[in-house]
Amino acid sequence: EAALLEEYRHVEARTRDGIRIEVSANLGSPEEAEEALAWGAEGVGLFRTEFLFMEREELPSEEEQYIAYRRVAEIFGERPVIVRTLDVGGDKDLPGIDRPAEENPFLGWRGIRMSLDLPDLFRTQLRAVLRAAAHGNLKVMFPMVTGVEEVRAAKAHLEECRRELEEEGTSCGPLEVGVMVETPAAAILAAELAREVSFFSIGTNDLIQYTLAADRGNELLRHLYRADHPAVLELVRLTCEAAKKEGIWVGACGEAAGDPDMIPHLIRLGVTELSMSPPSIPRAKRVISRL
Ligand code: PEP
Ligand code: MG
Repeated sequence: EAALLEEYRHVEARTRDGIRIEVSANLGSPEEAEEALAWGAEGVGLFRTEFLFMEREELPSEEEQYIAYRRVAEIFGERPVIVRTLDVGGDKDLPGIDRPAEENPFLGWRGIRMSLDLPDLFRTQLRAVLRAAAHGNLKVMFPMVTGVEEVRAAKAHLEECRRELEEEGTSCGPLEVGVMVETPAAAILAAELAREVSFFSIGTNDLIQYTLAADRGNELLRHLYRADHPAVLELVRLTCEAAKKEGIWVGACGEAAGDPDMIPHLIRLGVTELSMSPPSIPRAKRVISRL
């Protein structure tokens, strides 16, 4: 089995009827980048940035973040690397950020909500990403979006950061902006959101839990937590339909993106990029090649 999959590592995956699907890696830190390439990653569909904030009291500086993002950008070269802005909260608590206890952390202060409430923190990260973008093919995406105002506000910060850096004479790279579709609201409003961004990435882990009101980590609800639930598939369909109308692409980066049973559903609905944990890449490419 392992030997059979070996030959799929470095193929460009295409369905039998010729649809090209980009297969990318989810990264939790820069240390994982080389190995992801070796598994056959064609890019990074989700670079989680929480690692910079974990197991430490002080927040990472712009310079430290810049070095980390630049490192992955350089390792991947021409290939796209999608940096996701900070998404703490929910199941991820971080010591450097002072936060009140919440009764429902998954429905609480996390992702883009927190970033917009803490502009210094957010802008430090955006400046680092803009600078790193001069060294590779970086894109940025925002997590936990529920409406168009959040996206406009986030983009306004990004543009101001770019202006600041340019005034300081610091070079920035071009930076496409995307949003994660991981709340039912984002999927329902996909037509509106699609006018604001260059791509969508469906975060199935959260989209499933919020759609089905089933905590992603609760073992008692395993049977309810299903990526192929018709309500989840309908939201994926809506997202892809809206994206197509607006001419933007849709990726998926939750666990379902690497699941051989879910890949056919995602592709038939219009997803053209799948991002997953690197060891899942060869199998996903084989599944696609046989579709
Ligand atoms: C998701 O929600 O599907 C996702 C990829 O983001 P995270 O698992 O980091 O919440
Ligand atoms: Mg998520």
